[in-house]
Amino acid sequence: MPVKNMTRKQIQTFFERLREQRPHPQTELNYSSPFELLIAVLLSAQATDVSVNKATDKLYPVANTAQAILNLGVDGLKEYIKTIGLYNSKAENVIKTCRILVEQYQGNIPETRKELEALPGVGRKTANVVLNTAFGQPTMAVDTHIFRVGNRTGLAVGKNVLEVEDRLIKVIPKEFIIDAHHWLILHGRYCCIARKPKCGECVVADVCNWPDRFEFGANKAIVVKNLS
Ligand code: SF4
Repeated sequence: MPVKNMTRKQIQTFFERLREQRPHPQTELNYSSPFELLIAVLLSAQATDVSVNKATDKLYPVANTAQAILNLGVDGLKEYIKTIGLYNSKAENVIKTCRILVEQYQGNIPETRKELEALPGVGRKTANVVLNTAFGQPTMAVDTHIFRVGNRTGLAVGKNVLEVEDRLIKVIPKEFIIDAHHWLILHGRYCCIARKPKCGECVVADVCNWPDRFEFGANKAIVVKNLS
């Protein structure tokens, strides 16, 4: 059965609940500057945040600027990140990116999507995370969790990442747009998980449109009561 799009009222309640649950949502990657965030996100492609944090916890005390990482060189950098998947190509990209940052941006991070996406290893998703998390811009980096939550719940149904991204930007009320990215990721990572979503303990079960949620423990009585 196709999932129905959520109504405006459902979407408002959906985000009010997620906000109540996590008033100050944050990325789980460790960083203390836009540069550290950019490199951490770049390293996190197809790797867990935990594995990236383990590497950057050792790397950043030694080198946390574009010039310092450039000084390490590809081989020096690999020593710090070799526990992360795809570290060979990531090391090459990080060094190339650092060189551009030093030569063209005085070591700073550019604040536009176009400039960010021109950096080696930086795609739309990474650019969106940096724009949103480091610079507070209302962007939406759709990862596997957000794609699933959007489609499953009826919040933002789309065939591909870009469709879901566009829909989310369109339907999310302004008051939630800055933090929505984190709320959705964390909800997808810890509650609305891929195989066995925890609908029985989900704070938005009554406004979710996924038809199968009752099989996964959502309480029918509460759903009916709250929606009526
Ligand atoms: S009720 Fe289930 S499917 Fe709906 S948002 Fe919650 S966990 Fe996800």
